[in-house]
Amino acid sequence: MTSRTPTTGDEDVLALFQATLQNIANELNPFGGILRCSRCGIEGKVGDVSLHFRDGWPTHCGYTMTWVTQLQLDEASVSPVELRETQP
Ligand SMILES: [Zn+2]
Repeated sequence: MTSRTPTTGDEDVLALFQATLQNIANELNPFGGILRCSRCGIEGKVGDVSLHFRDGWPTHCGYTMTWVTQLQLDEASVSPVELRETQP
């Protein structure tokens, strides 16, 4: 793995990246709903999406949990989501 000496502009890029992620999270949070394990079916509130961006998307039974939005719950129209094995 290669590395390079950080330059002054890197901090600006990082700040812009973090601000962009927060903006995306702010757009996504109103969708609400739950996270569901596609393996065992356990469910929990989706919570603050920005935390998932920061800490990694929640997993259960070794798989990334599926986000089922409140609209999907209300309409009972959950499209199938391909299971993805998470990296250790
Ligand atoms: Zn599970």
